Amino acid sequence: MSQVNSFKEALSTGYFGPYGGQFIPDALKNRLDALTEAFMSAMADESFHKEYVRILDEYVGRPTAMTECSNISRELGGARLFLKREDLAHGGAHKINNCVGQILLAKRMGAKRIIAETGAGMHGTASAMAAAMFGMECTVYMGEVDIARQEPNVERMRALGTNVVSVTAGQKTLKEAVDAALMAYIEQPDTFYLLGSVVGPHPYPSIVREFQSVIGKEARAQMLKREGKLPDYAIACVGGGSNAMGLFSAFLDDESVALIGIEPSGKGLNYGEHAATLTLGKPGVLHGFNSYVLTDDKGEAAQVYSISAGLDYPSVGPEHSHLKDTGRVKYELASDKETLEAFSILCHKEGIIPALESSHALAYAFKILPKLDKDKIVLVNLSGRGDKDFHSIPGEYKTPVLLKN
Ligand SMILES: *Cc1c(COP(=O)(O)O)cnc(C)c1O
Repeated sequence: MSQVNSFKEALSTGYFGPYGGQFIPDALKNRLDALTEAFMSAMADESFHKEYVRILDEYVGRPTAMTECSNISRELGGARLFLKREDLAHGGAHKINNCVGQILLAKRMGAKRIIAETGAGMHGTASAMAAAMFGMECTVYMGEVDIARQEPNVERMRALGTNVVSVTAGQKTLKEAVDAALMAYIEQPDTFYLLGSVVGPHPYPSIVREFQSVIGKEARAQMLKREGKLPDYAIACVGGGSNAMGLFSAFLDDESVALIGIEPSGKGLNYGEHAATLTLGKPGVLHGFNSYVLTDDKGEAAQVYSISAGLDYPSVGPEHSHLKDTGRVKYELASDKETLEAFSILCHKEGIIPALESSHALAYAFKILPKLDKDKIVLVNLSGRGDKDFHSIPGEYKTPVLLKN
């Protein structure tokens, strides 16, 4: 079965191979069935699509640019490097693509209030922007630790009129924020849960993938127009996996395009020092869906770590788990150190400040570029901009580091 058909099947069954599904209380089942129905009818409705595209154009600033990084290719030797510039989307990351789509769904379903979870605050900020534009009330659940770490995004959300609720359970980060948002969604029937990545119970992985697929569609068309051929490699970082699925979705049936997802190996591969879910996890259920998960020795969700707050999640989108098992996508690692070096190199060689999340994908690209022929093309999804990250970057990486080839 082609990968495209397997996605269509997931929309009706809720499963990508053995992954996905709905492991949820009965109280949620009807709500999610109604959401699936609304999404299917929206997808078949030309006017919904038109409105989505209009907002992407006039508000988000799409299509985003595709940029060739000739300076880096020249210095490293080997293949050519291109970036898909999601850092240029409104809000500074790809998150807004999904928020605009889901807010239109919320409106279609008659919801008046939005709830969302956030880790680093990027999805919370994009949700707050979309909610403000549509005049909807918005509450964002965020771990107490993340609130302290990500003050600028908390200020942005509050300025946009969103109510930020501090979550004090457990590790006080993203996992607990998702728990709290799911609980609020169950308790409050008039709300719409705006989920931020290709995770969660069916139909969220399919919904978020659909609204992020614009990244891959644009990149594919831009590459064909500029170079007359497809890239040889398409690389993206994987936290929950939405920017990666958005890029990969357009190339799944193009066998000549190698697809590579990059997970954070953080400080190392010991327990608690990384968030390499697909590399080191095993199948299990968390947050209502079956996928690879990282667990502790009691089988509970593991403590996870990454220098980039947007990648430290102990599970991953179910489609990625399936794509790993089928071998269509390869999942590799980038450490904090490699990531920081990549961050610095892109800053001073190309004049672009990348998010630390995206810098993981860059780090891997910089490793393979010198080994490839000059006519090969490597496309990296630059999922966001790095202005938000300066407070977590050690001083030595805030000045140019040397290229080491
Ligand atoms: C949130 C975020 C990510 C991680 O989320 P995915 O769903 O894995 O894409 C990556 N990059 C940036 C810039 C983000 O804000």
